[in-house]
Amino acid sequence: MATHIAVLDETVINRIAAGEVVERPVSVVKELVENAIDAEATSVELDIENGGKKLIRIRDNGTGMSHDDAFLALERHATSKLRSEKDLVGVPTLGFRGEALASIASVSKLRLMTYDGIEDSGAVIVVEGGVLRKSERTGMARGTVVEVANLFYNVPVRRKFLKGPNVEAGHIQEMVTRFALAHPTVGILYREDGRIRLDAPAVRTTLERVHTLYSRDVRENLMQVDRTLDNVRVHGFVARPPYARSNMRSVLTFVNGRSVRDRLINAAVSKAFANLIERGRYPLAMLFLELPPDQVDVNVHPQKAEVRFVSSQLVFNLIVDGVYEALTGAPFTPPPGPKERILPKPPTTPVLQHVKDEREPEQFVPMEPAGEQASSPMALPLRPTPAPVSMQEPEGWFSALGIVGSLPGSFVILHSDDELVIMDHHAAHERVLFEELKAVENPGPGFECQDLLIPRVVEYPPVEARALAQHLELLERVGFRIEEFGQNDFVVKGVPSWIGDTDLERFFGSLIEVMLDTGLRGDPRRFREELLKSMACHAAVKGSKTLQPQEVRALLRDLDRLGAVEVCPHGRPFIIRMPFAEISKKMGRR
Ligand code: ADP
Ligand code: MG
Repeated sequence: MATHIAVLDETVINRIAAGEVVERPVSVVKELVENAIDAEATSVELDIENGGKKLIRIRDNGTGMSHDDAFLALERHATSKLRSEKDLVGVPTLGFRGEALASIASVSKLRLMTYDGIEDSGAVIVVEGGVLRKSERTGMARGTVVEVANLFYNVPVRRKFLKGPNVEAGHIQEMVTRFALAHPTVGILYREDGRIRLDAPAVRTTLERVHTLYSRDVRENLMQVDRTLDNVRVHGFVARPPYARSNMRSVLTFVNGRSVRDRLINAAVSKAFANLIERGRYPLAMLFLELPPDQVDVNVHPQKAEVRFVSSQLVFNLIVDGVYEALTGAPFTPPPGPKERILPKPPTTPVLQHVKDEREPEQFVPMEPAGEQASSPMALPLRPTPAPVSMQEPEGWFSALGIVGSLPGSFVILHSDDELVIMDHHAAHERVLFEELKAVENPGPGFECQDLLIPRVVEYPPVEARALAQHLELLERVGFRIEEFGQNDFVVKGVPSWIGDTDLERFFGSLIEVMLDTGLRGDPRRFREELLKSMACHAAVKGSKTLQPQEVRALLRDLDRLGAVEVCPHGRPFIIRMPFAEISKKMGRR
């Protein structure tokens, strides 16, 4: 009888395993850098070409391997890091499964060169698609070089799923950044197509490493986290809330030196920031968790990015407390429950019922500071100015509102015939700018570029700098002149007038986040829109500025002119309407 079941040959098994270990170029980089660090390298040099699809080469000065070990290393489940099952508890090394090299070799053309400094010579082994092609001796310095060429050349389905070189390189750069943070004492040099993208010399502390990796602006706003409870320690840095980002990728976490992406940790960080940043924004954080090896299982996922904690509640609370304390200097108190809010009516379609035949002179009601608060800086009531509105201009709902005055913060008090209207002028201005930016096909007034007297240099870490470099054209379209200048720097030579006195470094920083977050998902329309939103948000009049009455007038007119809806581009309402009738009722009047 014919048999249907056969033991798969080694090459096929390796290729199947490769599916689990190697998903894309960044997975190869991760495995190879881990191997270098496990081999006690103090210097790691990484080169990639065409997003790692053509070539990934990594050179380390670690222990190297003997000839025999070099051959063994390319076999599946060959590892020098684990001998028996009991070693599985608390593996001190980054790798331990002994399948990375074999898997990678089965789906690429791999060349391993290694020398342990003991034998007469080094070894060179060439494997193609899991098949040994060549082995010879070579002279080289102690250490290892692994070259992975044409990844997935023999697995076309996989290759097809790879993204463009920029996307793949972006993943790799993020991974390299994580390694750089986790291993400050290892010097890391990373080049893409011959161009240096990250150059982090060996230093002693994480803080020194942070200095190499992040811009001054971020560095100066980092708060130190350090808290220990029952053998578990969390330490690292979080950026103050204004430096929040638009995606969770900014939360870099490490467990016992291993870079992880863990839901529990992320949830804890989010909770600590819950009442400090808006929903949908994420903190910038680098957090290191140290705990006894038997308290954590790193063996959950083949790519070892997820972990499981024995005392997950303790870890969770520790992180929440540690981060919150760093931010506020106080232990965590849960955010207050949702407050009762007065929601605006459903979006107003142009409501013309308020149009008046004749504009009434603005009536300004001086607002009495309430009792004790008299000393607080209450904005002065606005003074009347005749509104220079041409009578032909169709009046909309907004323009017809009367101005009562302004409150400290970002609020302007307005009224219609039958409603009290509170407007957040920052959010409203944001909406106006957004509509204008969206409408810009041929840039009009306010969008032409004005040269800066003194060009301004802005600096970003490598991943960010790359994103910005790729989108300079859009910025030019809305009135900027900005050029690449050195490795991670840009020089801003001109700005449009709509930008006002916005801090440029922060402004571009927020755009970069959007680029990193949305750009990768590749929907160009959404991408553009997100960018414009972010521009509008940063260029909108600061909430703290008290608007002059004519400025309020102009804003109201703009809102009508652009047919703006009652929410800012992020979807928050910018006006609250309280019918007088409702106020009367609340006051017990009939
Ligand atoms: P693992 O890291 O899980 O042990 P790998 O397939 O990644 O499995 O590597 C197999 C073995 O090859 C390692 O256990 C180690 O002994 C050796 N090795 C791999 N890379 C290096 C390197 N860069 N320097 C020294 N030894 C290495
Ligand atoms: Mg390994």
